[in-house]
Amino acid sequence: MALIVQKYGGTSVGSPERIQAVAERVKRWHDQGHDIVVVVSAMSGETNRLLGLAKAITPDPDPRELDVMVSTGEQVTIALLAMALMKIGVAAKSYTGTQVAIRTDSAFTKARIEAIDDVRMRADLNQRKVVIVAGFQGVDDEGNITTLGRGGSDTTGVALAAALKADECQIYTDVDGVYTTDPRVVPQARRMETITFEEMLEMASLGSKVLQIRSVEFAGKYNVPLRVLSSFGEGNGTLITVDAEDDMEKPVISGIAFNRDEAKLTVRGVPDTPGVASRILSPIGDANIEVDMIVQNVSADGSTDFTFTVARGDAKKAQAVLELVAKDVGARELVSDDKICKVSLVGVGMRSHAGVASKMFATLAKENINIQMISTSEIKISVVVEEKYLELAVRALHTAFDLDATAA
Ligand code: ASP
Ligand code: MG
Repeated sequence: MALIVQKYGGTSVGSPERIQAVAERVKRWHDQGHDIVVVVSAMSGETNRLLGLAKAITPDPDPRELDVMVSTGEQVTIALLAMALMKIGVAAKSYTGTQVAIRTDSAFTKARIEAIDDVRMRADLNQRKVVIVAGFQGVDDEGNITTLGRGGSDTTGVALAAALKADECQIYTDVDGVYTTDPRVVPQARRMETITFEEMLEMASLGSKVLQIRSVEFAGKYNVPLRVLSSFGEGNGTLITVDAEDDMEKPVISGIAFNRDEAKLTVRGVPDTPGVASRILSPIGDANIEVDMIVQNVSADGSTDFTFTVARGDAKKAQAVLELVAKDVGARELVSDDKICKVSLVGVGMRSHAGVASKMFATLAKENINIQMISTSEIKISVVVEEKYLELAVRALHTAFDLDATAA
């Protein structure tokens, strides 16, 4: 018999009926003899509603009080689920993060888990009770309630699985797994049976929103097998795990991620001298703007162009900062463009296959899509292209790299 941690997100517990459906699902697993710990989010929309209440009082709520308030969403769902389980004859007990206790640092609204006490949970499991734990929250050394950041229930689930040395952490959500790319853009996108932690991290940080990035990091670090699956249907979902076998059949590319939330800034005609990159980017960093891709040309005439991308929401701010910098470094011109997007191929198979980049570029060339910037890592190639080509680029690449689902 296995010890399984199951996490259900906001939509999965979005109404009393859905909570009862979750209870039925938990019961099925429990009836098979497994020990089950369930982590739940707040009902969908509830966390936003609570945050809205705080904002109605003050634009700048005290972080400690914010956590006292926003953690209540999960306190509601744990108790409702416990009731729903008891109603169908399953012994269950709910715990807030404080009651478990899930110990965190004191960084309110973005706390990090430091330790988890498993004594109470173990005692309940030994009595064949289903243990239900509030996601997203913990307690600091002073007994203050803390929360883990938006989407933090995924991290609670993974952390509990690590602490309990669970056989699997199952993340139930409204999609039935991780897809090769967003099915809304490519109808032929396929659900992956497995994906490695590394690949999932890239997919998540490149914009795939299935799992909170931190939970994937955590699962990789503690080697917790993580499965994403639907709470509305059946199926095996997608297992995220270490790169176990050297699978010859493994695709070169596992998935394609994309991100529209980018803007590009170019400082033209910068003197090509030591220190210029730092003089341009330090003030950007000081303004708390995160830089993503960077390109600097080789110079022919002693001056060079310096281009980088930032989140679209930061573009205006970055431009204001750059206007000062551009004068200071003696640049010729400053250009910004927010009609761009980033398209990325992700796959550990790239390590052992040459020619991925050239195939990517050839595919885009065939569609007449101009590449503005390129960056690569061991398991990823990203390009920046005009935003209007996003769908075309992703679809063409999906086909070129044999990711399309074959018609059944
Ligand atoms: N309820 C929290 C949120 O909406 C945590 C979670 O759902 O994971 O961010
Ligand atoms: Mg959520």
